[in-house]
Amino acid sequence: MRRAASSTLRARAPWQVLDSFGRAVNASCRYAAPRTVDELAATVARAHDEGIRVAFRGAGRSYGDASLNAGGLILDLQGLRKVHSWDPAAGVFECEPGVTIEGLWRRTIEDGYWPHVVPGTMRPTLGGCLAMNVHGKNNYRAGPFGEHVQEIDLLTPRGEVLTCSPAQNADVFHGAIGGLGMLGAITRVKLKMKKVECGNLRVDARVGRNLDEMFERFEELIPHSDYCVGWVDCFAQGSGLGRGQIHAANYLHGDEDPDPEGSLHVERQGLPPRILGFPRSRIWQVMQFFVNDLGVSMVNLAKYWASYFGDGDSYVQSHVAFAFLLDYVPDWRLAYGPGGFVQYQVFIPKETAKATLREILALGHRNGFPSYLGVLKRHRPDAFVLSHAVDGWSLAMDYKVTDGTRAALWKHFAELTQVVLGAGGRFYFAKDAVLTAEDALRAYGTERFERFAALKRRLDPDFALRSDLADRVLGPAFAR
Ligand SMILES: Cc1cc2nc3c(=O)[nH]c(=O)nc-3n(C[C@H](O)[C@H](O)[C@H](O)COP(=O)(O)OP(=O)(O)OC[C@H]3O[C@@H](n4cnc5c(N)ncnc54)[C@H](O)[C@@H]3O)c2cc1C
Repeated sequence: MRRAASSTLRARAPWQVLDSFGRAVNASCRYAAPRTVDELAATVARAHDEGIRVAFRGAGRSYGDASLNAGGLILDLQGLRKVHSWDPAAGVFECEPGVTIEGLWRRTIEDGYWPHVVPGTMRPTLGGCLAMNVHGKNNYRAGPFGEHVQEIDLLTPRGEVLTCSPAQNADVFHGAIGGLGMLGAITRVKLKMKKVECGNLRVDARVGRNLDEMFERFEELIPHSDYCVGWVDCFAQGSGLGRGQIHAANYLHGDEDPDPEGSLHVERQGLPPRILGFPRSRIWQVMQFFVNDLGVSMVNLAKYWASYFGDGDSYVQSHVAFAFLLDYVPDWRLAYGPGGFVQYQVFIPKETAKATLREILALGHRNGFPSYLGVLKRHRPDAFVLSHAVDGWSLAMDYKVTDGTRAALWKHFAELTQVVLGAGGRFYFAKDAVLTAEDALRAYGTERFERFAALKRRLDPDFALRSDLADRVLGPAFAR
């Protein structure tokens, strides 16, 4: 009797308080970390038998509650990191979902390959990148991560393994990629990589003295840039509202790099061990003194004027140094203090983008919540069911959360959300902690939600897979 009881998940999977990357939301969940796909399948089946709801977790790099499951079971899939094959002749990489973006580029770069799409950090797993269908600083050109996937295996809660590609089970392929882990566990990924001639990019820096100039310069750079990303000083007001700096980058051809083969070596792609003389691991402790309105406004002012005088600078940077700026400072999120922070990323169609972003920045000032970070990107639509991309622009913003500001900040988010919805915009669930189901439905539209709900009912009729994010934002789609 006792042995049978101890083999149940209820007895075996310990409770843990798990946090989100932004730390502003967390949840007490049962936790297990299967080491093989078979063990994963058995655990999902066992959870189903015991009536425990399940959500998957990669590296926990989503800012909000995507990989939280209060009262349910979290299955941490980072242990599934077998590389099945790497074919440098074809540029095709096949692996389990726990392999990270870092694991991917480290394995392929010396053969002259880089991922077509990477997020701003190399820590996420490929499973997490697929479930959110992440975008990079080249979304306007390369589309999302899922467009470079040739095939996935999806383990459904009923224990079936569906092989999906743009040609086979195409509806499931387009639903599961970007499907928040709600249709099944991705257990195998086959990915096409991008051929690069050397390990470096040419980066051009431009300043924009206000939002109009940021848009103009971005539009000029985009047609001949492989990547383009803007930093916005959200503290600037008046004639400087929306000012910032743009970095545009292009892959260098082999003959433009003095050492094309050498620059592809993994060691040449590393991040520097020290910044301004400080070991990288200590920098967040210094940063915490500046993560307040006064500190950020001063840092932004200095950064803006450095950008202004550096307008037109051009330099060479490795793929890693350009792509993963946010990994320079380990644990930087801790600098926000115990309340953490929320990232809120809005996607606005190009027709209304400039006026809407201006309104969003102004609203930040009116409500006393200018964002501590502003990252501007250009996007294009894609064919995935829960696609967050629009033919337009996104602005990602970071907000410090404290006990004293939480209620007012959430009210501010509610106001921002109405502005975005009024402009026909969308949000990105990997960066969300605040939307309601009603907001999400308005942003994504009934047709998309119904298509997703139909897939959910087909693949997971007992609704075994649920997460805090899905319960919060997919409410109507989850109604059986
Ligand atoms: C510093 C930083 C910068 C970032 N920059 C960008 C950016 O530029 N662009 C961008 O698009 N995103 C960006 N992100 C967001 C991040 O890329 C995504 O949230 C990504 O999903 C995180 O992957 P993860 O492995 O940590 O997954 P988690 O956050 O743990 O989980 C994300 C989702 O994936 C699901 N999931 C995980 N594994 C599987 C699986 N095997 N099968 C099915 N579902 C699964 C989970 O249930 C959850 O819904 C950034 C995040 C950080 C922290």
